[in-house]
Order: sequence, then C-alpha cells, then structure tokens
Amino acid sequence: MRVLVIGAGVGGLAVARALGADGHEVTVFERAPGLRTTGAALTLWSNGTGILAELGVSLEGVGAAIDVLQQWDAHGGLLMSVDVAHAAGTYGHPHISLPRRRLLERLADGLAPGVISFGKACTGIGQDGARVRAQFADGTSAEGDLLIGADGHHSAVRDHLWGGDPTEPSGWATWQGLGPVPIDVVTSRRGLMIVGREGLCGLMPAGEGLLQWWFDLRWSPGDPIPASPVAALRERFGGWGAPVGDVLASVGDADVEWFPHHRHRVPRRWGSGRATLVGDAAHTMPPTRAQGANQALEDAWALATALREARDVPAVLREYERARSRRAGVVARQAGSESTNKYRPTLARLLPDVLLSRYYTRWLKRVSDYLATEPA
Ligand SMILES: Cc1cc2nc3c(=O)[nH]c(=O)nc-3n(C[C@H](O)[C@H](O)[C@H](O)COP(=O)(O)OP(=O)(O)OC[C@H]3O[C@@H](n4cnc5c(N)ncnc54)[C@H](O)[C@@H]3O)c2cc1C
Repeated sequence: MRVLVIGAGVGGLAVARALGADGHEVTVFERAPGLRTTGAALTLWSNGTGILAELGVSLEGVGAAIDVLQQWDAHGGLLMSVDVAHAAGTYGHPHISLPRRRLLERLADGLAPGVISFGKACTGIGQDGARVRAQFADGTSAEGDLLIGADGHHSAVRDHLWGGDPTEPSGWATWQGLGPVPIDVVTSRRGLMIVGREGLCGLMPAGEGLLQWWFDLRWSPGDPIPASPVAALRERFGGWGAPVGDVLASVGDADVEWFPHHRHRVPRRWGSGRATLVGDAAHTMPPTRAQGANQALEDAWALATALREARDVPAVLREYERARSRRAGVVARQAGSESTNKYRPTLARLLPDVLLSRYYTRWLKRVSDYLATEPA
C-alpha cells in the first residue's frame, strides 16, 4: 500500500519503520525543516523498549537505565521507593531514559533516504472510497491508500476527522530542561520525584552525563508565564533541600522549556475511511505517567500488526482504534487526574515498597497491548 504519514515525531517515525518493514511504500510529511532537537528527555518503559526492539531500533549506547523510582519530601525524607527493575525483569525489556533527539535519530536512521519529506505542513485531508489525499501549506498534495495522522497534540488531521480540538488544560504545567547538572542522580539508575505543597521536582538521568529535570506547578490559561522562569522557580522552591537547590543553581533561562498540560477523553473511534491517528493526536495526556511516547509506540506496533491481516483497510483501522482506545484511554485518564503531582505524604509512607513494585509491574501490563500479548 502507499501510506501517507503526517508528522515525524515518535509515533510517525515508528509507524513508518513498522509499515516500511512490512513492504508498504511509506512517506512521512513533517511540517518542520528537520527532526526535532528540543523536548529534553523521555523515559521509555518495558512496553516502549520492547516495541522498539521488535522494530529493530537499537538503544545501544544511548540513555540511562532506570531501576528505581523514589519519591522524597521537600527536605530529603524518603516517602516511597518503587523497584521498577522488577517489571523490566518480568517482561525482559529495560526502562531507558534518553534525550528525545536521540530516540528520533535512532528511529529515523532505519528509514530509506527520502522517506521523510520536511517542510510539509498538512492543512487538510480528503478521501473517496479508494484513495485518500493530504493537502499541504505549500500548495502541493499527496495521494495514497492509507493516511496516518501522527501530528501530535495540535493535530490538523484530528481537527479534520473530529471536527475540532477536544483537548482541555488540566490545570498544571511543566518547566523542564536537559543538561550536565553535577549531582549524583546523573550517574545513577534512579529517578527522583520530590513533592511538596509548592509542586513537584523530577530528576532523571538521561545518559551522556545529562540530567533531565522538571518542575510541575499548578497553571491555568490566564495565569502569568514568568519572564525569568529560573528566578520564579528559585523563589518558589528556594526553601527545598538538596539536590533541588543544586539544580536551580546550575541552570539558566535559556535551558528552560515550558509545556502546559492538556488532556481529553479518548473516544473509541479515531478516524474514518482510510484515515486514522497514532500518538498524541489520538490521546493527548499530561506527562505525569511518562507514557505518551510509549503509547505512541504501542499505536505504531498495533496498527502495523492489524494491517498484516488481509481484510479491507477501513474495517481494520476501526478495529485497531477500538482496541487501542481501551488501554490508551486508561492511561490517559490516570495521567489526566495529575494524581502523581499531588502532595500526600501520609499515604505515600503507608504504602509498602514491595507492594508498589508488584503493583507497578501489573499496571504496566494493564496499559500495554504489547506486553499483554507477550509471554512473561
Ligand atoms: C514535558 C513532557 C515530558 C514528557 N515525558 C514523557 C516521558 O517521559 N515518556 C513518555 O512516554 N512520554 C512523555 N511525554 C509525552 C510525549 O512527548 C508525547 O506523548 C509524544 O511525543 C507523542 O508523540 P507523537 O509522535 O504523537 O507527537 P509529537 O512527538 O508531538 O510529534 C508530532 C510531529 O508532527 C509534526 N506536525 C505537527 N503538525 C503538523 C502538520 N500540520 N503537518 C505536518 N507535521 C506536523 C510536529 O512538528 C512533530 O514533529 C512528555 C511530554 C511532555 C510535554
């Protein structure tokens, strides 16, 4: 089949890899002039790394393995410790935190030259029974047998298919960065979430001596965005103990990226005819469960698997959407509640670490079609 993929993010490149390997003729149309180099780091859990291994995407030599997630209070007191290595061992796929640009490079590396067409902003789609078309801002168009909207949170393809933007702000935002911050988390296999009434500070090693750091704060449209984010963060989190002060002392405003959180209900139907969606276009969610990119990989894997069946394309697409909406819907709802950002120290101390580790292992399978089909 001739396949048009709109967007060269995690979902678009992964689905291009999967469908290309199955012999389809794929072109990825990306609005930007090149692959995205921003977006700090991402954590890929066993579901994401298992799918990448199946797609033949090696993560050898990039990122940092994560074995433990800890939650601390603002003064360095341990609230909970989750042995996520238990899940990695159970499923046979590691958890890796890595710069987003490295993941995109590794995904794009396996595509033939010319598969990604840059500077192509999709402005609309159209279809008759047999063919589907994408129109681009430069006045050109392309035609294929299947169109996949992988154009993210502000998806133009979804706008066309769903008749508007379903997302709403969740009331939180992230200020984040990626850099060589000299604290011991950088060389560890441990992610740290420090919570307090002021918000959350997350710290995750990302390989190459880099630290992924982020601050989650309550924020709603209309609230001011500070001109100097670092000064505002220092003022708000200044009373917190190490290592938060060390992080804030070593970063500058130019290092900070800002993302307001959005969410929406995930419907059972994502597309129509020969057009469908993958990734954030279908299920935008706040980053609190660190599953958005993993779920985009799940979509790519599930869609390619479904298309191996020799049945009519629209029927296969609707079945893929129905199946994926179940697990993606669960994780989107949980992420949308922003519960992991909330400060509940008594509850956190009461939960035994061993139960949390087992719970995490089961939860990961509950939100993964890929792990659910894998023999553990
Ligand atoms: C602060 C933060 C931290 C996160 N951390 C994690 C994490 O640790 N783990 C995790 O799994 N997820 C994480 N996520 C979520 C993750 O980033 C997204 O879920 C993931 O990037 C979705 O991939 P995608 O391919 O659907 O969309 P995107 O990555 O947004 O890619 C969409 C692509 O489409 C292109 N595009 C957009 N419009 C058009 C158009 N009209 N025409 C052509 N191209 C277009 C864009 O330029 C872009 O390249 C995080 C998100 C945020 C904001």
